[in-house]
Amino acid sequence: MQLIMLGVGSSAGTPVVGCDCATCRSPDARNNRTRCSSAIVLPGGETILIDTGPDLRQQALREGLNRVDAVLYTHTHADHLHGIDDLRAFCQIQRRQIPLYGNHETMLHISNKFPYVIREPGSFWELPVLSINRVSEPFELFGAKITPIPVKHGNSDILGYRIGNFAYITDVSVIPESSLDLLQDLDVLMLDCLRFEPHPTHINLEQSLDYAGLIKARQTYLIHMTHELEFVEASQRLPPMVRLGYDGLRLGSS
Ligand SMILES: [Zn+2]
Ligand SMILES: [Zn+2]
Ligand SMILES: [Zn+2]
Repeated sequence: MQLIMLGVGSSAGTPVVGCDCATCRSPDARNNRTRCSSAIVLPGGETILIDTGPDLRQQALREGLNRVDAVLYTHTHADHLHGIDDLRAFCQIQRRQIPLYGNHETMLHISNKFPYVIREPGSFWELPVLSINRVSEPFELFGAKITPIPVKHGNSDILGYRIGNFAYITDVSVIPESSLDLLQDLDVLMLDCLRFEPHPTHINLEQSLDYAGLIKARQTYLIHMTHELEFVEASQRLPPMVRLGYDGLRLGSS
């Protein structure tokens, strides 16, 4: 299984429009963060996306991603959802409907806001051809066990996911005890880390490090970062088992 970090930026992305701070002006490519999303490529080549942010098209071109077999949605904020129309390209290549997975609220939101994408395959491929699938319990996709991980994002109940020994938890303010139990014995954890200062709907660096210490994945990568976190400077504040993610980082065997 291979993991590709498509984007590790917060909702504004980095550089931020109109900002000339050191991170936004940095020539280090690891400070260039598109909106938050990752791809998991299973041993059989099946590719599972986590979220479809507004940068999906550029991410797919950059990473040579030409196949998407399913999408796991964490929640429906614009920075995680609004690339949904770009799934059309994969439907056209594959001539197949792509199943979307998420909790009840997420699936309801997508069917209400993007009703034209929920359609059965036919001879018309000028629109995305997608299906909605509500999940709350572990399920199987292409031979891989997928476990939805309920977390709090401010007042919202959203999902993280565990796929094998990899887990993805973004946009989180609290990970409930029952969900921490689902995150034992991980090789890789990708974890929200918005910025240094506290935030009502996201954990900050200090809280991310606390959760990383509790969960004890063999390696934790921080994601969904604002321009406050300059790659080299912020990396120096981390313990050995925690690193900053960056766009284009690939983990695991190809
Ligand atoms: Zn977000
Ligand atoms: Zn900036
Ligand atoms: Zn969010």
